[in-house]
Amino acid sequence: RAKDAGRDQVCFFDPAMQTEVLERAMLLRDLRQALDNDEFCLFYQPVVDGQQRILGVEALIRWQHPQLGMVSPATFIPLAEDCGLILSIGQWVLKTACLQLASWAQDPERADWHIAVNVSARQLNQDDFVDQVAAIIDSTGACAARLRMELTESMLQENLPRTISKMRILRQMGIRFSLDDFGTGYSSFSYLQRLPMDQLKIDKSFIDHVLTDANDAAIAGTIVALGRTLGLGVVAEGVETVEQMRFLVDSGCQVFQGYLFGRPVEAAALGRSRQVLAAS
Ligand code: C2E
Ligand code: MG
Ligand code: MG
Ligand code: MG
Repeated sequence: RAKDAGRDQVCFFDPAMQTEVLERAMLLRDLRQALDNDEFCLFYQPVVDGQQRILGVEALIRWQHPQLGMVSPATFIPLAEDCGLILSIGQWVLKTACLQLASWAQDPERADWHIAVNVSARQLNQDDFVDQVAAIIDSTGACAARLRMELTESMLQENLPRTISKMRILRQMGIRFSLDDFGTGYSSFSYLQRLPMDQLKIDKSFIDHVLTDANDAAIAGTIVALGRTLGLGVVAEGVETVEQMRFLVDSGCQVFQGYLFGRPVEAAALGRSRQVLAAS
């Protein structure tokens, strides 16, 4: 924009950009207080099988800002990652999810549900991450076998041997790992084989156009086949329509997540999933 202003005008900062920087600074200031002020909560989105039975949930953080209302994690998680706050927020997420698991263990209808938490690179890269997780499992009484961690391909680029050894220890404790947003990164076949993963999550961007874009349909089908070859489970995320689900079922996908089955909601609002596809 400084360019548009013309040569005779010196414009260091356009107003829109200034607003953005100020907003970011204010958001950051408020984010530092958010944990102490108890402004975060976890929403849970169902993960279902082909019969639309709930297998478990993904925990998705929500920030109820006192003035702005709900702030999307897509906005504040990157901010928290930049300033290091993600470490304490991430611990809070793990602890809250484990408390939820311990509480569901008493409920026969929910005792076998898993909870998947999203873990950031900076969290996983902490030297004492494994100890932190063990302490949280211990103090909450959660069953580690019901806890799942979602990692992304990009965060597995550096420190790979260290990351793999941490994952191995956590897996020995019973924790399972999913590769989130799969297909958007650069994983090679040999790299995937080295990772102690349990599950691939097909990124929503492929599911979105699975009925209209032959490439996306081929990629989704290929990921399902890849999962089978590597002995990994495959989840389709962001399923919104019955037609998308039918296509995925025909491709061999057996686990699903998306608005079709339920949006992320508070734990108390998690019900039995609606039957959206007639049994056949
Ligand atoms: P993600 O882990 O890939 O989570 C899936 C996102 O897709 C969620 O957005 C979910 O609400 C949304 N989604 C699921 N099904 C559908 C659908 O059918 N249609 C549409 N339009 N959207 C769907 P959300 O909750 O806004 O979270 C965005 C991202 O923020 C997450 O992507 C994850 O990367 C990050 N995030 C959320 N919670 C946490 C957390 O506790 N810790 C960390 N480190 N990151 C988190
Ligand atoms: Mg996720
Ligand atoms: Mg995802
Ligand atoms: Mg995502």
